Amino acid sequence: MFDLKEHPHRRLNPLTGEWVLVSPHRTKRPWQGQVEKVPPVERPAYDPGCYLCPGNARAGGLRNPQYETTLVFANDFAALLPDTPAGTFEHGELLRAEAQPGVCRVVCFSPRHDLAIAEMEAAAVRRVVDAWVDEYSELIARPGIGYVQIFENRGAMMGCSNPHPHGQIWAPSTIPNEPAKEHAAQKAYFEAHGRTLLADYADVELKLGERIVAVNASFVVLTPFWAVWPFEAMIVARRPVSGLDRMTERERDDLAAAMKSVATRYDNLFEVSFPYTMGFHQRPAGAECPFWHFHAHYYPPLLRSATVRKFMVGYEMLATPQRDITPEAAAARLRELSEVHYRQRQD
Ligand code: ZN
Repeated sequence: MFDLKEHPHRRLNPLTGEWVLVSPHRTKRPWQGQVEKVPPVERPAYDPGCYLCPGNARAGGLRNPQYETTLVFANDFAALLPDTPAGTFEHGELLRAEAQPGVCRVVCFSPRHDLAIAEMEAAAVRRVVDAWVDEYSELIARPGIGYVQIFENRGAMMGCSNPHPHGQIWAPSTIPNEPAKEHAAQKAYFEAHGRTLLADYADVELKLGERIVAVNASFVVLTPFWAVWPFEAMIVARRPVSGLDRMTERERDDLAAAMKSVATRYDNLFEVSFPYTMGFHQRPAGAECPFWHFHAHYYPPLLRSATVRKFMVGYEMLATPQRDITPEAAAARLRELSEVHYRQRQD
Protein backbone atom coordinates (compact mmCIF):
# COMPACT_ATOMS: atom_id res chain seq x y z
CA MET A 1 0.00 0.00 0.00
CA PHE A 2 1.46 3.33 -1.09
CA ASP A 3 2.12 5.54 1.95
CA LEU A 4 3.29 9.16 1.77
CA LYS A 5 5.14 8.67 5.07
CA GLU A 6 7.08 5.61 3.86
CA HIS A 7 7.64 5.47 0.14
CA PRO A 8 9.57 7.65 -2.30
CA HIS A 9 7.12 9.75 -4.30
CA ARG A 10 6.82 12.97 -6.21
CA ARG A 11 4.47 15.82 -5.35
CA LEU A 12 3.02 18.41 -7.71
CA ASN A 13 3.27 22.14 -7.12
CA PRO A 14 0.00 23.38 -8.66
CA LEU A 15 1.28 26.98 -8.66
CA THR A 16 4.14 26.17 -11.03
CA GLY A 17 3.29 22.79 -12.55
CA GLU A 18 6.62 21.44 -11.27
CA TRP A 19 7.30 18.29 -9.24
CA VAL A 20 9.41 17.64 -6.16
CA LEU A 21 10.81 14.23 -5.19
CA VAL A 22 10.17 13.23 -1.55
CA SER A 23 12.23 10.43 0.03
CA PRO A 24 10.75 9.98 3.53
CA HIS A 25 12.40 6.57 4.08
CA ARG A 26 15.74 8.37 4.47
CA THR A 27 14.60 10.12 7.66
CA LYS A 28 13.16 7.23 9.63
CA ARG A 29 15.09 8.15 12.74
CA PRO A 30 13.04 10.30 15.13
CA TRP A 31 14.33 13.79 15.77
CA GLN A 32 16.97 13.71 18.51
CA GLY A 33 16.33 17.25 19.67
CA GLN A 34 20.00 18.01 19.23
CA VAL A 35 20.79 21.66 18.69
CA GLU A 36 24.28 22.52 17.55
CA LYS A 37 25.05 25.74 19.38
CA VAL A 38 26.86 28.50 17.60
CA PRO A 39 28.43 31.30 19.57
CA PRO A 40 26.01 34.24 19.81
CA VAL A 41 26.94 37.19 17.65
CA GLU A 42 26.78 40.40 19.63
CA ARG A 43 25.58 43.13 17.34
CA PRO A 44 25.54 46.81 18.23
CA ALA A 45 22.31 48.84 17.92
CA TYR A 46 24.31 51.24 15.74
CA ASP A 47 27.33 50.41 13.56
CA PRO A 48 29.33 53.39 12.28
CA GLY A 49 30.59 51.24 9.38
CA CYS A 50 27.12 50.12 8.19
CA TYR A 51 25.82 51.82 5.05
CA LEU A 52 22.20 51.26 6.17
CA CYS A 53 22.39 52.77 9.68
CA PRO A 54 20.89 56.27 10.19
CA GLY A 55 23.18 59.19 9.34
CA ASN A 56 25.83 57.02 7.67
CA ALA A 57 27.34 57.53 4.21
CA ARG A 58 26.38 55.16 1.41
CA ALA A 59 28.22 54.20 -1.76
CA GLY A 60 28.08 57.03 -4.25
CA GLY A 61 28.41 59.70 -1.62
CA LEU A 62 24.79 59.87 -0.44
CA ARG A 63 24.08 59.98 3.29
CA ASN A 64 21.15 58.28 5.08
CA PRO A 65 18.81 60.59 7.01
CA GLN A 66 18.35 60.11 10.77
CA TYR A 67 15.34 57.87 10.05
CA GLU A 68 13.27 56.60 12.97
CA THR A 69 11.07 53.86 11.47
CA THR A 70 11.73 52.68 7.88
CA LEU A 71 13.85 54.07 5.06
CA VAL A 72 13.37 53.45 1.33
CA PHE A 73 15.98 54.53 -1.22
CA ALA A 74 17.04 53.73 -4.79
CA ASN A 75 19.57 50.87 -4.82
CA ASP A 76 23.07 52.27 -5.32
CA PHE A 77 24.02 49.09 -7.24
CA ALA A 78 20.74 48.61 -9.12
CA ALA A 79 20.38 45.58 -11.42
CA LEU A 80 17.64 47.41 -13.29
CA LEU A 81 17.81 51.00 -14.50
CA PRO A 82 14.75 53.15 -15.31
CA ASP A 83 16.28 54.94 -18.29
CA THR A 84 17.33 51.80 -20.20
CA PRO A 85 16.53 52.40 -23.91
CA ALA A 86 13.95 50.11 -25.56
CA GLY A 87 15.33 47.53 -27.95
CA THR A 88 15.57 43.90 -28.98
CA PHE A 89 18.27 41.61 -30.31
CA GLU A 90 17.54 38.65 -32.54
CA HIS A 91 19.90 36.36 -34.39
CA GLY A 92 17.83 33.73 -36.15
CA GLU A 93 15.32 31.91 -33.97
CA LEU A 94 17.66 30.96 -31.19
CA LEU A 95 19.37 34.08 -29.93
CA ARG A 96 16.92 36.57 -28.45
CA ALA A 97 17.26 39.44 -26.03
CA GLU A 98 15.15 42.38 -24.95
CA ALA A 99 15.98 45.57 -23.09
CA GLN A 100 14.71 45.36 -19.50
CA PRO A 101 14.15 48.73 -17.85
CA GLY A 102 13.08 48.82 -14.22
CA VAL A 103 13.55 50.11 -10.71
CA CYS A 104 15.50 48.71 -7.73
CA ARG A 105 14.99 50.00 -4.20
CA VAL A 106 16.21 49.12 -0.73
CA VAL A 107 13.88 49.09 2.30
CA CYS A 108 15.47 49.37 5.75
CA PHE A 109 13.10 47.77 8.25
CA SER A 110 14.39 49.61 11.31
CA PRO A 111 17.04 52.16 12.29
CA ARG A 112 18.32 49.50 14.71
CA HIS A 113 21.26 47.57 13.26
CA ASP A 114 20.61 44.62 15.58
CA LEU A 115 16.85 43.98 15.27
CA ALA A 116 15.35 41.59 12.71
CA ILE A 117 11.62 41.13 12.07
CA ALA A 118 11.53 38.34 14.66
CA GLU A 119 12.71 40.71 17.39
CA MET A 120 10.95 43.91 16.34
CA GLU A 121 7.75 45.10 18.05
CA ALA A 122 4.58 44.12 16.16
CA ALA A 123 3.82 47.84 15.58
CA ALA A 124 7.27 48.32 14.02
CA VAL A 125 6.74 45.36 11.66
CA ARG A 126 3.37 46.88 10.75
CA ARG A 127 5.21 50.06 9.67
CA VAL A 128 7.37 47.93 7.36
CA VAL A 129 4.17 46.46 5.86
CA ASP A 130 2.90 50.03 5.33
CA ALA A 131 6.14 50.94 3.54
CA TRP A 132 5.72 47.88 1.25
CA VAL A 133 2.09 48.86 0.56
CA ASP A 134 3.20 52.38 -0.43
CA GLU A 135 6.01 51.11 -2.68
CA TYR A 136 3.86 48.44 -4.34
CA SER A 137 1.00 50.91 -4.95
CA GLU A 138 3.28 53.49 -6.49
CA LEU A 139 5.38 51.14 -8.65
CA ILE A 140 2.54 48.93 -9.94
CA ALA A 141 0.80 52.05 -11.32
CA ARG A 142 3.92 53.42 -12.99
CA PRO A 143 4.05 53.21 -16.82
CA GLY A 144 6.63 50.70 -18.02
CA ILE A 145 6.57 48.55 -14.85
CA GLY A 146 5.30 44.98 -15.31
CA TYR A 147 5.78 43.44 -11.89
CA VAL A 148 6.89 44.42 -8.38
CA GLN A 149 8.99 41.81 -6.57
CA ILE A 150 9.40 42.57 -2.86
CA PHE A 151 11.87 40.29 -1.10
CA GLU A 152 14.33 39.84 1.75
CA ASN A 153 17.60 37.92 1.71
CA ARG A 154 18.57 37.23 5.27
CA GLY A 155 21.97 35.96 6.40
CA ALA A 156 25.38 35.41 4.86
CA MET A 157 24.29 31.89 3.76
CA MET A 158 21.80 33.59 1.43
CA GLY A 159 24.39 35.97 0.09
CA CYS A 160 23.38 38.93 2.24
CA SER A 161 26.50 40.69 3.37
CA ASN A 162 24.92 43.29 5.68
CA PRO A 163 23.16 42.16 8.88
CA HIS A 164 21.21 45.42 9.17
CA PRO A 165 17.55 44.31 8.68
CA HIS A 166 16.51 45.28 5.17
CA GLY A 167 14.83 44.02 2.04
CA GLN A 168 14.74 44.90 -1.62
CA ILE A 169 12.23 45.73 -4.31
CA TRP A 170 12.98 44.92 -7.94
CA ALA A 171 10.36 46.15 -10.40
CA PRO A 172 11.10 45.08 -14.01
CA SER A 173 9.17 45.94 -17.16
CA THR A 174 7.88 42.35 -17.60
CA ILE A 175 6.62 39.54 -15.32
CA PRO A 176 9.60 37.41 -14.19
CA ASN A 177 9.73 33.60 -14.43
CA GLU A 178 8.30 32.46 -11.08
CA PRO A 179 5.32 34.84 -10.91
CA ALA A 180 4.67 34.17 -14.62
CA LYS A 181 4.24 30.42 -13.92
CA GLU A 182 1.93 31.18 -10.98
CA HIS A 183 0.02 33.71 -13.10
CA ALA A 184 -0.82 31.08 -15.72
CA ALA A 185 -1.70 28.37 -13.18
CA GLN A 186 -3.91 30.64 -11.07
CA LYS A 187 -5.69 31.97 -14.17
CA ALA A 188 -6.44 28.47 -15.48
CA TYR A 189 -7.68 27.32 -12.06
CA PHE A 190 -9.93 30.35 -11.63
CA GLU A 191 -11.42 29.92 -15.08
CA ALA A 192 -12.18 26.27 -14.34
CA HIS A 193 -13.51 26.65 -10.78
CA GLY A 194 -14.56 30.27 -10.23
CA ARG A 195 -12.41 30.39 -7.07
CA THR A 196 -8.76 31.21 -6.54
CA LEU A 197 -6.36 28.27 -6.39
CA LEU A 198 -4.96 29.39 -3.05
CA ALA A 199 -8.38 29.99 -1.45
CA ASP A 200 -9.22 26.36 -2.17
CA TYR A 201 -5.74 25.22 -1.12
CA ALA A 202 -5.92 27.08 2.22
CA ASP A 203 -9.35 25.49 2.87
CA VAL A 204 -7.96 22.01 2.23
CA GLU A 205 -4.97 22.61 4.52
CA LEU A 206 -7.14 24.07 7.31
CA LYS A 207 -9.34 20.95 7.17
CA LEU A 208 -6.41 18.53 7.16
CA GLY A 209 -4.35 20.48 9.72
CA GLU A 210 -1.12 18.50 9.34
CA ARG A 211 0.82 21.19 7.45
CA ILE A 212 -0.54 24.19 9.37
CA VAL A 213 2.06 26.14 11.38
CA ALA A 214 -0.02 29.08 12.64
CA VAL A 215 -3.28 30.84 11.85
CA ASN A 216 -4.70 34.29 12.50
CA ALA A 217 -7.88 36.05 11.36
CA SER A 218 -6.45 37.01 7.95
CA PHE A 219 -3.58 34.60 7.14
CA VAL A 220 -2.61 30.94 7.25
CA VAL A 221 1.04 29.97 7.79
CA LEU A 222 1.82 26.50 6.42
CA THR A 223 4.47 24.29 4.92
CA PRO A 224 3.17 23.63 1.40
CA PHE A 225 2.44 20.02 0.37
CA TRP A 226 4.98 20.52 -2.44
CA ALA A 227 7.70 22.26 -0.37
CA VAL A 228 11.25 21.85 -1.68
CA TRP A 229 13.34 23.37 1.14
CA PRO A 230 13.35 21.48 4.48
CA PHE A 231 11.54 24.20 6.44
CA GLU A 232 9.95 26.05 3.56
CA ALA A 233 6.80 27.99 4.50
CA MET A 234 4.06 30.05 2.91
CA ILE A 235 1.84 32.77 4.28
CA VAL A 236 -1.48 32.61 2.41
CA ALA A 237 -4.19 35.29 2.68
CA ARG A 238 -7.48 33.78 3.88
CA ARG A 239 -9.41 36.19 1.65
CA PRO A 240 -8.63 36.15 -2.10
CA VAL A 241 -6.91 39.55 -2.02
CA SER A 242 -4.78 40.19 -5.11
CA GLY A 243 -2.17 42.56 -3.66
CA LEU A 244 -0.87 44.52 -0.70
CA ASP A 245 -2.75 47.61 -1.88
CA ARG A 246 -6.12 45.86 -1.44
CA MET A 247 -5.57 44.84 2.19
CA THR A 248 -7.64 46.21 5.05
CA GLU A 249 -5.99 47.77 8.11
CA ARG A 250 -6.70 44.53 9.96
CA GLU A 251 -5.04 42.49 7.23
CA ARG A 252 -1.92 44.66 7.36
CA ASP A 253 -1.73 44.08 11.13
CA ASP A 254 -2.27 40.36 10.66
CA LEU A 255 0.36 40.13 7.91
CA ALA A 256 2.88 41.76 10.25
CA ALA A 257 1.91 39.28 12.99
CA ALA A 258 2.16 36.29 10.65
CA MET A 259 5.61 37.40 9.43
CA LYS A 260 6.83 37.88 12.99
CA SER A 261 5.49 34.43 13.86
CA VAL A 262 7.35 32.74 10.99
CA ALA A 263 10.63 34.59 11.64
CA THR A 264 10.49 33.88 15.40
CA ARG A 265 9.76 30.17 14.92
CA TYR A 266 12.64 29.95 12.43
CA ASP A 267 15.10 31.59 14.86
CA ASN A 268 13.89 29.35 17.70
CA LEU A 269 14.27 26.17 15.62
CA PHE A 270 18.07 25.99 15.99
CA GLU A 271 18.44 29.01 18.30
CA VAL A 272 20.27 30.92 15.62
CA SER A 273 19.60 33.87 13.38
CA PHE A 274 17.86 31.74 10.71
CA PRO A 275 18.81 32.54 7.10
CA TYR A 276 16.17 32.64 4.39
CA THR A 277 14.94 34.27 1.24
CA MET A 278 11.35 35.46 1.56
CA GLY A 279 9.18 37.39 -0.85
CA PHE A 280 5.62 38.24 -1.82
CA HIS A 281 3.82 37.10 -4.94
CA GLN A 282 0.93 39.31 -5.98
CA ARG A 283 -0.95 40.85 -8.91
CA PRO A 284 1.20 42.15 -11.79
CA ALA A 285 0.64 45.54 -13.41
CA GLY A 286 -2.19 46.09 -15.87
CA ALA A 287 -5.63 44.52 -15.96
CA GLU A 288 -7.45 43.42 -12.80
CA CYS A 289 -6.57 39.83 -11.98
CA PRO A 290 -9.30 38.28 -9.78
CA PHE A 291 -7.39 34.97 -9.94
CA TRP A 292 -4.27 36.37 -8.26
CA HIS A 293 -4.12 35.46 -4.56
CA PHE A 294 -1.55 37.24 -2.37
CA HIS A 295 0.99 35.03 -0.60
CA ALA A 296 4.53 35.00 0.77
CA HIS A 297 7.15 32.30 0.16
CA TYR A 298 9.92 31.52 2.65
CA TYR A 299 12.90 29.53 1.35
CA PRO A 300 15.37 28.73 4.17
CA PRO A 301 18.43 26.57 3.44
CA LEU A 302 19.04 25.06 6.92
CA LEU A 303 18.34 21.37 7.45
CA ARG A 304 19.48 19.97 10.79
CA SER A 305 21.32 22.69 12.69
CA ALA A 306 22.79 26.15 12.45
CA THR A 307 25.58 24.78 10.26
CA VAL A 308 24.05 21.88 8.32
CA ARG A 309 22.34 23.19 5.20
CA LYS A 310 20.57 21.69 2.24
CA PHE A 311 22.30 21.94 -1.13
CA MET A 312 20.51 21.99 -4.46
CA VAL A 313 23.03 20.01 -6.51
CA GLY A 314 23.32 16.93 -8.70
CA TYR A 315 19.91 15.42 -9.41
CA GLU A 316 18.25 18.61 -8.18
CA MET A 317 20.10 20.85 -10.63
CA LEU A 318 19.80 18.42 -13.50
CA ALA A 319 16.43 16.77 -12.91
CA THR A 320 14.07 17.59 -10.01
CA PRO A 321 14.45 18.99 -6.47
CA GLN A 322 14.41 16.38 -3.71
CA ARG A 323 13.77 16.38 0.03
CA ASP A 324 13.99 13.82 2.84
CA ILE A 325 12.11 15.27 5.84
CA THR A 326 8.43 15.49 4.86
CA PRO A 327 6.61 18.85 4.84
CA GLU A 328 4.27 17.35 7.46
CA ALA A 329 7.18 16.63 9.83
CA ALA A 330 8.61 20.10 9.23
CA ALA A 331 5.24 21.71 9.97
CA ALA A 332 4.92 19.73 13.21
CA ARG A 333 8.32 20.98 14.36
CA LEU A 334 7.62 24.62 13.46
CA ARG A 335 4.14 24.45 15.01
CA GLU A 336 5.39 23.35 18.42
CA LEU A 337 7.98 26.14 18.71
CA SER A 338 7.40 29.16 20.93
CA GLU A 339 6.42 32.53 19.49
CA VAL A 340 8.66 34.15 22.10
CA HIS A 341 12.09 34.73 20.57
CA TYR A 342 14.87 32.75 22.26
CA ARG A 343 16.93 35.90 22.80
CA GLN A 344 14.00 37.62 24.51
CA ARG A 345 13.09 34.83 26.94
CA GLN A 346 13.25 35.71 30.60
CA ASP A 347 14.59 32.34 31.87
ZN1 ZN B 1 4.11 32.28 -5.34
